[in-house]
Amino acid sequence: MSTAAQWQGRRVTVAGLGVSGIPAAKVLHGLGAVVTVVNDGDDERSRAQAAELEQWAAARSDSQEAGPGRPTGITVRLGDGATLPEGTELIVTAPGWKPDKPLFLAAAKAGVDIWGDVELAWRLRGLNGRKAAPWLAVTGTNGKTTTVRMLAAILEAAGLRTAAVGNIGVSLLDAVLGSPEDTEEPYDVLAVELSSYQLHWAPSLRAHSAAVLNLAPDHLDWHGSLAAYAEDKGRIYEGNTVACVYNAADKATEDLVRGADVEEGCRAISFTLGAPGPSQLGVVDGILVDRAFVENRQKQAQELAEVADIDPPAPHNIANALAAAALARAFGVPAAAVRDGLRAFRPDPHRIEKVADVAEVAYIDDSKATNTHAAEASLAAYDPIVWIAGGLAKGATFDELVAKSAGRLRGAVLMGADRALIQEALVRHAPHVPVVNLDRTDTGAMSAAVQEAARLARPGDTVLLAPACASMDMFVNYNKRGEAFADAVRALAAERA
Ligand code: ADP
Repeated sequence: MSTAAQWQGRRVTVAGLGVSGIPAAKVLHGLGAVVTVVNDGDDERSRAQAAELEQWAAARSDSQEAGPGRPTGITVRLGDGATLPEGTELIVTAPGWKPDKPLFLAAAKAGVDIWGDVELAWRLRGLNGRKAAPWLAVTGTNGKTTTVRMLAAILEAAGLRTAAVGNIGVSLLDAVLGSPEDTEEPYDVLAVELSSYQLHWAPSLRAHSAAVLNLAPDHLDWHGSLAAYAEDKGRIYEGNTVACVYNAADKATEDLVRGADVEEGCRAISFTLGAPGPSQLGVVDGILVDRAFVENRQKQAQELAEVADIDPPAPHNIANALAAAALARAFGVPAAAVRDGLRAFRPDPHRIEKVADVAEVAYIDDSKATNTHAAEASLAAYDPIVWIAGGLAKGATFDELVAKSAGRLRGAVLMGADRALIQEALVRHAPHVPVVNLDRTDTGAMSAAVQEAARLARPGDTVLLAPACASMDMFVNYNKRGEAFADAVRALAAERA
């Protein structure tokens, strides 16, 4: 925890203009630091952002009294993200910047610390002696956003002042700093989503309790190897005080708990889709049950909620709910609030979202399934399925996914740049499954895909958009891909009405 005085005149370089860089630069400037922002790009957008930031800082400086504590402006260097500015004492980086960048190598040589936006927020919590809210933190390859939102809903149901923050899009800096008039943090506890990049750059973060939901290869180009990716995810457990929550079905998450250096008395708690043993949360006859946060875990169990309280009640989502419940229980939340929070929770768009039933076929949008691990979870939730997939594979292979899901597939409709990779896997592991290969990448391709899927489906089937790929070859992002799917389904419904 720091005081504002420690920042006066400190030379800080902010790496990256963008969603984390601009707020970080403003906060640091507000604390009296001398801020330089460096950015690789020098395009129109970054020039506009730079001009706006410089003007903001200049206006702020003008409004202050002249004197030694008076802030200088913010300097922005565009098109030069590699050189370490003279006199830099600290770098605050955007999470996406890769650790092998020349800027960071130069910083290491000069003995300059590198913090990410999460580290900065962590260090600024409790600024000037204010009471700081504890963090309940969540990471994992898939399910982070859903779990953090469930957790926030449960904490709210318990009457706590909380927010879902971090990688989820709500700034951690705003959450820890509050408005200048606040005398204490506006929150009792924060539900924090952390990406592997953010964890990489957050060396001193110490959560109250944390969960790693699952671990599958992803972002390996950034981390360099699966081991390095796992190590960064595992940082979330470092220094936990009450509970390290892991997935009993995913040994890699348990190994991370074993490797963590935690506070004395911190417990290892796991979740399972089966009946829970001592120190576990699990499921018995459609009831979510806690055998971890009860007085006598050898003999007692506490009913928390029903599987039917979870939307959607797909297996992976029950796992998310159990992880959220475990963190909330670690914070002392009563069982009834877990039930009320889960009942109040609604999933974000494009995450296993039911669009419509048309001719007794359910159409489900899981456009957010941008990797094979996520697609595997949603394919496991339905049977039989007409699967719409494809896009940018990001180096993934599809054999395992297709082999595991083959028995559930009524048919497949493929599109996008890397569709051939999925088609080859289907030929190898599901030769009985009819496949429609759409070799178009225009905006009308999604309605063609939905039409083809409707042709393959029979009453009682599910048409599932779970692309297992990124969307950027055809769409701006996964939201737009999901919207195109929903539009096409609604057009189909109108046609058939
Ligand atoms: P994240 O924030 O980690 O990207 P989301 O909650 O946004 O996760 O879910 C992304 C996608 O991952 C969902 O659309 C679903 O397909 C899949 N998913 C969600 N939870 C899990 C889980 N526990 N295990 C595997 N896949 C999951």
